[in-house]
Amino acid sequence: MIQTSKTCAIIGAGPSGLMAAETLAEKGYRVTVYDRMASPGRKFLLAGRGGLNLTHTDEPDAFMAHYREASAWLWPFIEAFSPDDVRDWCDGLGEDSFAGSSGRVFPKSFKASPLLRAWLRRLDALGVTFSARHHWQGWDSAGALRFRVADGQEILAKPDATLLALGGASWPKLGADGRWTSILKQSGIAVTPLQPANSGVLVEWSDLMKTRFAGTAIKRVVASCGQSQAKGEAIITEKGLEGGLIYSLGPDIRRQIEADGQALIHLDLRRDLPLPLLTERLSKPRGKMSVSTWLHKAAGLAPAAIALFREEHATGAKAPFDDPVEMAKLLKNLPLHLRGIAGLERAISTAGGLALSQLDDHLMLKNHPGVFVAGEMLDWEAPTGGYLLQACFSTGVAAANGMADWLGGPAL
Ligand SMILES: Cc1cc2nc3c(=O)[nH]c(=O)nc-3n(C[C@H](O)[C@H](O)[C@H](O)COP(=O)(O)OP(=O)(O)OC[C@H]3O[C@@H](n4cnc5c(N)ncnc54)[C@H](O)[C@@H]3O)c2cc1C
Repeated sequence: MIQTSKTCAIIGAGPSGLMAAETLAEKGYRVTVYDRMASPGRKFLLAGRGGLNLTHTDEPDAFMAHYREASAWLWPFIEAFSPDDVRDWCDGLGEDSFAGSSGRVFPKSFKASPLLRAWLRRLDALGVTFSARHHWQGWDSAGALRFRVADGQEILAKPDATLLALGGASWPKLGADGRWTSILKQSGIAVTPLQPANSGVLVEWSDLMKTRFAGTAIKRVVASCGQSQAKGEAIITEKGLEGGLIYSLGPDIRRQIEADGQALIHLDLRRDLPLPLLTERLSKPRGKMSVSTWLHKAAGLAPAAIALFREEHATGAKAPFDDPVEMAKLLKNLPLHLRGIAGLERAISTAGGLALSQLDDHLMLKNHPGVFVAGEMLDWEAPTGGYLLQACFSTGVAAANGMADWLGGPAL
């Protein structure tokens, strides 16, 4: 391969940084990836533990709706490196992708480790250098990148272009700790405060709920928060609820909690049973059945949903067992008071980040020519479902293409 003498530094060896490294190395640039951790892709590997959901087969409009306010801004990047491109890339690394019944796309092994191994081999073959245990500290007065290395020494690097792909601040022990926010703020760059996204919510459960039902899923529920609605399942935890249903409503819940210190959601525990039918079923005499057996038989509720319905403390509603009309209404619109959001330590992703207004159309910092930004450190958020990694990959490719343009086009 013909190489240019132009050098690119990528700080952050997560999916967005590695995707940018691949794009630039393929164009012939000399790429060094720096990371404060000892090995690349730590969060990517963790993401693979529960099944690495790379992207989604949604139609474009439905796909982009998941990014809410950031969708118009992200669209050109996702259009240019689309869900199909992510699948081709995955297939090309020997890990054929497949879509599950929900439309979520995974590599065939379901895990991240075989994919990451193949990816690192490809990057190595392309000549990408990896500098581990290099903790970026900012710039010196001459504009060189400052890194603290393992022995506490400081080293400097002066690449021709730089990509920051430092991630958000969830699971900080895996590398992305959000400390870049103070470095960038000191350089006059606007950053929206980092907050947990795709994170559990806190509910004041009874002891019964904590001890008997923590870990149990409540399935086929519709939840609403303000004007937003989501379908799916929630998992009961000792501290509250987590899972896709909750994550989809995350931004609405967060806004309510910011404003009022708490949030109120409503749950339809029998989303597939219309209200008149449910009322009719509940109107049949209970006889000698216990309330739980009756709710199970007449309303088809699972034990965890019944326990939730009876959580007077959390729902603030005393179940009107003798009134079938009111019972049915409550089962289809059960209030649930949320006391807060679980912290960043265990959140799947981060909301907030580098303000999009600070970037030009090629993801370059307007007040730092030659410095580009990609991935989760940017101020967008999305629920789980493959939308997070897709945006990381797409912005990684876009920033790399922006860097190549800025450096004077493809090096080959
Ligand atoms: C449990 C879990 C499951 C997930 N599952 C999925 C999933 O199935 N699908 C999906 O789409 N998303 C999933 N995600 C989210 C996804 O992993 C992240 O959105 C993605 O990794 C973000 O990529 P990134 O490259 O922007 O940042 P990161 O992957 O966080 O990488 C940032 C890198 O920057 C390095 N770094 C940070 N600061 C410095 C510094 N000062 N100096 C040097 N290096 C630094 C870090 O060490 C890190 O390696 C999951 C996340 C978690 C926690």
